[in-house]
Amino acid sequence: MEYQPIYRATLAKWGAEAQYEQMVEECAELIAALKHFQRGKIGRSELIDELADVRLMVGQLSWMLGEDQVHTAIEKKLVKLQELLDDPAGR
Ligand SMILES: [Mg+2]
Repeated sequence: MEYQPIYRATLAKWGAEAQYEQMVEECAELIAALKHFQRGKIGRSELIDELADVRLMVGQLSWMLGEDQVHTAIEKKLVKLQELLDDPAGR
């Protein structure tokens, strides 16, 4: 499925501010779902559902803010993470 037309239509219909609000809301729902999952109050599929919501909003905001810049930031963070993994002190 092509995401970009949906991201564009979503932004056109509800605006940028609503997308930021939605991201905050979905992150909060995922946080709550993780806590409930850890306590056995919800199952894997409910957790995956909330994860999917956040993934969609990450896609939306990445598209809005610039996929290339987000990709560059991720690459930098992966390099730093690899350095930490390679550090024999393990910190
Ligand atoms: Mg949600």
